[in-house]
Amino acid sequence: MLASDMTHRARRGRGMTSQRTRDRMVERLADQGIVDERVLAVMAEEPRHLFVDEALAHRAYEDTSLPLGFGQTLSRPVTVARMSELVHREAPGRVLELGTGSGYQTLILSRLVSGVHSVERIPALYQRAARRLESLGAPARLRAADGRRGWPGAAIFDVILLTACASALPSALLEQLSDGGVLIAPLATADGEQWLTRVRRHGHTLEQQRLEPVRFVPLLEGVVQGTG
Ligand code: SAH
Repeated sequence: MLASDMTHRARRGRGMTSQRTRDRMVERLADQGIVDERVLAVMAEEPRHLFVDEALAHRAYEDTSLPLGFGQTLSRPVTVARMSELVHREAPGRVLELGTGSGYQTLILSRLVSGVHSVERIPALYQRAARRLESLGAPARLRAADGRRGWPGAAIFDVILLTACASALPSALLEQLSDGGVLIAPLATADGEQWLTRVRRHGHTLEQQRLEPVRFVPLLEGVVQGTG
């Protein structure tokens, strides 16, 4: 057999293996209550294993969060699916994600809606995510900055999604939300519980709804210096 054939087979073999594990992940997501067919289809297609260190790639489709380095974590598939479902339902024109992390949630969003923007405070994570998303041809705009300030130059947004937990909502974010738009965020209560919360803006009033208990890393202040 030609070496090029072997390479081709090996590559295809790997692809088929991860397709089977992705299909199993998606069956589990449906069992866990994810109903949006587009979200399920996109997550069945996209390579989650490329968003973690190679040493963890074999665990990429398990029902678990995984370390990204810098004390950060890639959320469980069901959490990414749930957030994606909440965003997709709004049929937004423009989305701002705070906490790019690995870029996996950004990738899924970019396949569901247009106008995805994402901000990450750790430059090394931003750079890695930017490379991955570019190589997959994902149409998202990324930036290394403190997401608590939003992205004034790209506002207004129909959805702002936080993938890190805030204890209070930065007012800059609410100002960058369209009338009727929603902010979806893990919010911490005074006794340390975290709730996935949807805040809808109606003019100057905010309607807040707790959706489900969650566990996220904290939204931190400032941009990390250097590239780690
Ligand atoms: N959605 C990510 C998971 C990210 S974990 C994924 O799919 O991989 C949360 C991320 O939020 C971390 O990368 C962390 O560095 C980032 N973060 C925390 N505070 C932030 C802030 N103020 N601005 C921007 N990003 C922030």
